Amino acid sequence: MHDANPAGGPTLHPDTLAIIAGRPPHLPDAPMNVPVHLTSTYVANGDLRYGRYGNPNWAAFEDALGALEGGRCVAFASGMAAITAVLDLVEPGATVVAPRHSYTGTVGLLEELAAKRRIQAVFVDISDTDAVTDAAAGAAMLWIESPTNPALEVADIAAIAAAAHEHGALVAVDNTFATPVLQRPLEHGADVVVHSATKYISGHSDVLMGAAVAASDDLAAAFVGHRSMYGAIPAPLETFLALRGLRTLPVRVERAQSNAQELVRRLTGHRALEEVRYPGFGAIISIVVRGGAEPAEALAERTKLWVHATSLGGVESTLERRRRWPAEQSTIPEGLVRLSVGLEHVDDLHRDLTSVLDALDPA
Ligand SMILES: *Cc1c(COP(=O)(O)O)cnc(C)c1O
Repeated sequence: MHDANPAGGPTLHPDTLAIIAGRPPHLPDAPMNVPVHLTSTYVANGDLRYGRYGNPNWAAFEDALGALEGGRCVAFASGMAAITAVLDLVEPGATVVAPRHSYTGTVGLLEELAAKRRIQAVFVDISDTDAVTDAAAGAAMLWIESPTNPALEVADIAAIAAAAHEHGALVAVDNTFATPVLQRPLEHGADVVVHSATKYISGHSDVLMGAAVAASDDLAAAFVGHRSMYGAIPAPLETFLALRGLRTLPVRVERAQSNAQELVRRLTGHRALEEVRYPGFGAIISIVVRGGAEPAEALAERTKLWVHATSLGGVESTLERRRRWPAEQSTIPEGLVRLSVGLEHVDDLHRDLTSVLDALDPA
């Protein structure tokens, strides 16, 4: 790959890294992007060997996301594949502390591993730093998601990491919601960052992919070993698309966040809403519609610009009542609708939402 900073000059800004990292060397006739390498195997005696062990598109994507997070990135087939690889670091029977309101797939996986006695899972309110640090004693891993999906609680990553390391526990942070543009957990002491690259990293709702970014070479080697053995590898075309999306991550996040902040200002106090939850940064808002499930479903069904769909982090705005999923925690309000704010004009997004909200009968 091209080394943009061979002499170790001043640290480059994330906006620049997102554009320049993971490019082929600047040589005559070199392509601007690493072409899609559709091959299952390679001619012998090189480093790549076989398609489950390596692919130039992975390397380009990993260079770029690793540069943004400040660690060594390993790409996976999905966010859940990356999460599985990270949880596999702990010894059989070890304790993993995790947020009760994390992504439903993460909670489900932890519960399944606990049911099989592979691990012991302890669920906490991740915004209650004292409760989390108390739980760190005897734990092998602290799992953080911040902000949480969809409760939008925020964790004190630095305080939790310090307490965890006193007890020799690893700290993993699901950084899907904040992205490295807004939060770099490795700088706050985390050992691993995971992403559902399906969301903001790729950013166009056309890819499923994941990544684990390690603070150390040993952890990165463990993830590569896991990926090679278990086979949860990303496809070359998906990896190309994810890197193409990542090029614009800083500008997308900036625009989506400013839309979200403006929507929070305009929606707060609306008579159809019980609550507008927003952690102050990022582009996810959780609104709680007065009257519970029925009016919340009506909102999700009736908007014209906002698409009723799960997932988040695309250029287009989507919304979803989270409790429509039986797996969602019962502590999430029935009327909570998660808004993933996209890059459309904020006036159009606001008008579309309020045209439905204004017509709801506040129960
Ligand atoms: C979507 C999501 C995941 C799972 O990622 P997939 O790419 O769907 O496997 C994990 N964590 C968070 C916070 C998510 O939003």
